[in-house]
Amino acid sequence: MRATQRVCRECRGKTKVIRKDYRFIESGLNNVFLKDVEVVVCSGCKGESPRVSNHNDLIRTIAVALVGKPCELAGDEVRFLRKYLGERSLSFAKMLGIDRSHLSRIESGAMAISRQTDRLVRTLALVHDPALVQKLKKLGRYKEALRRLSEIGTDVNPIEVQLGHAPDGYTYDLKVAA
Ligand SMILES: [Zn+2]
Repeated sequence: MRATQRVCRECRGKTKVIRKDYRFIESGLNNVFLKDVEVVVCSGCKGESPRVSNHNDLIRTIAVALVGKPCELAGDEVRFLRKYLGERSLSFAKMLGIDRSHLSRIESGAMAISRQTDRLVRTLALVHDPALVQKLKKLGRYKEALRRLSEIGTDVNPIEVQLGHAPDGYTYDLKVAA
């Protein structure tokens, strides 16, 4: 049996474990949800923390979901992919052929990403991390993701990334946010 955290680290209040959908803001993104995950909830400060296993696969699954997103990447999603790749702003801007200040305006949301830069960010992610390609193939979504590269819409409908558990790793769904 897994050990249960009984006391909140923040306020020493009592905690309980429930299953729910959890907005995974720890990812640095606002639109990522863990579906039906165990969450430790504090009865005192109401703090919540999800119990996630296989953190590397979780982060990789978010990355492939973004690569396969049907509409433009938002700034925080570009930042997520850059950090996923372990790149600093300067080197990533060089890869994209843009100024560092241009990249930082995109990442902060002050400037929309161009269609070319959006495609290049996704392509660089696939080229620089073969594990992303493996993950997409494992999920049977590699061809879909490649097709998406030529069909990215300019609409800015917020898309929710919904992450599910499967015995051999995380899965993802993309839903238009209500
Ligand atoms: Zn607490």
